[in-house]
Amino acid sequence: MEVKILGAFGSKFKGKKMLSILIENKVIIDAGNIVESLGEESFKISDILISHLHLDHIADIPFLIAESFPVREKPLNIWAQRETLNGLKKYIMNQKVWPDFTKIKLRSNVSSINYLELKINEVININGLKILPFRSNHTVPTLGFMVMKNDKSFIFSGDTYKNNEIWETINRDEKIKSLFIDVSYPKRMAELGKVAKHLSTDAFEEELKKLKRKIKIFVIHVKPVFFKEVKKEIKDISSRTGLEIEVLEDGDEIKI
Ligand SMILES: [Zn+2]
Ligand SMILES: [Zn+2]
Repeated sequence: MEVKILGAFGSKFKGKKMLSILIENKVIIDAGNIVESLGEESFKISDILISHLHLDHIADIPFLIAESFPVREKPLNIWAQRETLNGLKKYIMNQKVWPDFTKIKLRSNVSSINYLELKINEVININGLKILPFRSNHTVPTLGFMVMKNDKSFIFSGDTYKNNEIWETINRDEKIKSLFIDVSYPKRMAELGKVAKHLSTDAFEEELKKLKRKIKIFVIHVKPVFFKEVKKEIKDISSRTGLEIEVLEDGDEIKI
């Protein structure tokens, strides 16, 4: 599988873009940074999975649909769990903050946007990918995803604090080749991590003790102002544990 990091970070800042991951040029997980990165290519995207309602994960949905609906062939399918879909309708695409695009038709006379509900542990098939949503451990209802194609798969943690399910799943399923995981903060911000429910580097290192086999780990969702610190601490964790761990940046491309 080809994975392209359109945005790697848990907030935006000079030269740092918010979380968005393009898989096989077909499906996007989270909408932190789509239009700036893909331009007109983004009009071909028909399916976006949203892990949760926080702004760094939904910010580009309004702009993507507003730019693309006059020329779009197919509706934009927004996949998320019910709480997230309800939040998008109530707080964002509510005819006040932004138009309700379910009421705006494409040239083909279908709605511009479809909201599609994801349920925990129910696999969906999109464009040749199988995707299994699982429950993450965050401050609002949040999903992580296992993405599968043929005999290979990877896990996207979603915004998360400690979550046994991730490590138990990896330990029992040899097909999982990589993990993309939220490590937002350096060690000195561990208390904030606990409250905001994101891993800090020390909580991440504790979590790694649960891992019983070697896989490639990619750190995502770092808060931009802590980037250098987190990168240094992750390098130390990588040498202490012997695990291959890489901190991702905007534009990185990974083959799984
Ligand atoms: Zn976030
Ligand atoms: Zn969040």
